[in-house]
Amino acid sequence: MFLHPMTWPDNTKCAAAITFDIDADSLIRDARREDGELRLQAISMGQYGPTVGVPRILESYKRYGLTQTFFMPGWVMENYPGTVESILKAGHEIGHHSWRHEDPMNHSDEVEAELFGKAMDVHMKLTGRHPRGYRAPVYSITPAILKRLIEHNFLYDSSMMADDLPYLVETSVGNLIELPPHWGTDDWPPFAHFAEINYMMPVRGPSAGIAPFFEEFNAMYEAGGFWMPVLHPFLTGRLARWREVERYLEPILEKGDVWFATLEDIANHALKDIDTMRRVEIQV
Ligand SMILES: [Zn+2]
Repeated sequence: MFLHPMTWPDNTKCAAAITFDIDADSLIRDARREDGELRLQAISMGQYGPTVGVPRILESYKRYGLTQTFFMPGWVMENYPGTVESILKAGHEIGHHSWRHEDPMNHSDEVEAELFGKAMDVHMKLTGRHPRGYRAPVYSITPAILKRLIEHNFLYDSSMMADDLPYLVETSVGNLIELPPHWGTDDWPPFAHFAEINYMMPVRGPSAGIAPFFEEFNAMYEAGGFWMPVLHPFLTGRLARWREVERYLEPILEKGDVWFATLEDIANHALKDIDTMRRVEIQV
C-alpha cells in the first residue's frame, strides 16, 4: 500500500518509464582528466552506448509504440548530435544530465553553475527548447542544484529517493516534482565493471541481472505504483540483456493496462494530485 496513492490516466493500473542515461565516454574523460583520451578500452565501452545500444533501443521502442525519456550530458549531446537527432525524431524526451558527467560534490557551486549553463545552451541549440527534467550524475544532487532547477523552471528532478511514487519537493524558492529512482532498478550494480573509476562489481548474466527489475515492476503493478528503471545503453543496451528486457516487456505491453510515458508527461500528470501527494521540504 501507499500512504499517498495516485491514479493514472485511462484507468491504467500503474505508470512506467524506462529511462536511459546516455553517459557514453564522458564517464572516463571526466574520471581520468589527466589521461582519459589514452584509455581506448574505457572510451570504446562508453561509445558503445550511443552508437550501438541506442539504435537497438530506439528500434524496439518504435516496434512497441513507446515514447520514453533519455538523459544526456551536454558534452555527449554535442559529440553525438546524430544520437540526439534520432531520439528527437522518434518523439522521445531528452533531460539534463550535467555537462560532462562531473560529480557536483567534486567542485564548487560556482563551477557547477557554469557547467550547468553550458549544458542548457547545448539543449537549446540541439533540441530547440529548455529541458524540463534533470537527473544528477550518480544521483548527486545538491541543495544549490535544486534551487537552480526551480529558478530555471524545471518541472521535475529524478535523483532523490524519499518515496516510491512521485512527490513534491518544496523549497523557499518554489516546488518541483521528484520522480524517484532507486538502486534496485539501476543497472550499474548488476552490469557495470569499470576498473578505471573503481567500480568493480561481479557482472551478472542477462537473466539474473534483468529479472530483479521486473520483480520491482510486479510489486508496483499490484499496488498501482510507478516503475522507473534507470538504465544505460552501454550496459543494458547489450544484445542479450536488451533481449531479456524485451521478453518481459512484450506481455506487459500486450495487456495494455500500464501507462508507459515520458517523465515529463508523468510529472505533469502527477501535478493533478498535488493536493494529496507526499511533500518533502528541503532547505536550499
Ligand atoms: Zn549518468
